Amino acid sequence: MRTGKRCGLYFDCTMLALVTGLLWIFTYASPSLWARIYIQNFGYGALLLFTSFRLAELRHGNATDRILFWILLGFSVQFFIFTSLTLGLSTPEGGKAFVASPFWGGLQLSLTVFGSGLAFAVLIAAITDMMEDLRRERDSDPLTGALNRRGLAEQVRRQFRNPTSLASVIVCDIDHFKSINDTFGHDAGDAVLRAFGLLLNDIVRDNDIVARTGGEEFMILLPATVEDHAAEVADRIRHRFKTTVFEFEVGKLLATASFGVAEQQPEELIETTVKRADGRLYEAKNAGRNRVFASKDSDQIMIPTRHKGTVQDSVSERQNPGTI
Ligand code: GH3
Ligand code: MG
Ligand code: MG
Repeated sequence: MRTGKRCGLYFDCTMLALVTGLLWIFTYASPSLWARIYIQNFGYGALLLFTSFRLAELRHGNATDRILFWILLGFSVQFFIFTSLTLGLSTPEGGKAFVASPFWGGLQLSLTVFGSGLAFAVLIAAITDMMEDLRRERDSDPLTGALNRRGLAEQVRRQFRNPTSLASVIVCDIDHFKSINDTFGHDAGDAVLRAFGLLLNDIVRDNDIVARTGGEEFMILLPATVEDHAAEVADRIRHRFKTTVFEFEVGKLLATASFGVAEQQPEELIETTVKRADGRLYEAKNAGRNRVFASKDSDQIMIPTRHKGTVQDSVSERQNPGTI
């Protein structure tokens, strides 16, 4: 389940059938304890060895994955080495001698050590997975899949306390969202939010952080990114969103969003950068919505016309969500 792999039914069933068939032969047709011990131990060993090869990618995973892999591999290999070393080519005669043999004693010991080790590793893996699921649930917004405020704070604490390279921030807010809810209903509003969240995740890079910071407000933190690039990303989002047609029972809808972008300055706390981006979002709203405001665009009182660096639509573009 951890690796997304299925049971190797073909190999596993063949091995089980082979082991069972051989055991039957050496129990009833030509009884030999020596052969049965080898068949059984090598059979188990082969099954586990094959499983560990299939799960080989676990050895590059986190600590729990690696522990799981190596215990599984050790468990499988010991069946071969241990049986050959302790049993050799003969079996002790009689029940008492067999129980007192190094093979039997060693088998009990290695099964206890490796068996409980494997069980313990599986238990740790299950607990780790459960904790990871709970953490993800706690830190993300169920509607959009973006981080919630708590998840965002955690990521900021981890990645942005001592930034080695300066980051950029995009804050965005869907325009006239209240009227989308009022016109198309709350479920339609939710669908728009979900689509917006997916769009953000689709456009940003893997190590960028996307969070839903309020009802229809989102924030993207872009590590090691200059403002111009962040503004381009914001404009790509803006453009894709405004050209997305939502189809609801009451009609089709086009929506837009506004963006504020800021770049972290040396020695600046990321919270200060966020405040600056917020101010620019406010300006973008005041300037007519459906636009991206970065440092080049802010501090302008009048509604800006199209110029390099200001990402906006022509006047003819709708500024209210509307039905088509
Ligand atoms: P502006 O263009 O200035 O941003 O206006 P707006 O209407 O988008 O902003 P406003 O803050 O007036 O309205 C936001 C609305 O978002 C109000 C609230 O009911 C709605 N909202 C908040 N959370 C959710 C949600 O999870 N689902 C839905 N459907 N609506 C939500
Ligand atoms: Mg809004
Ligand atoms: Mg808002």
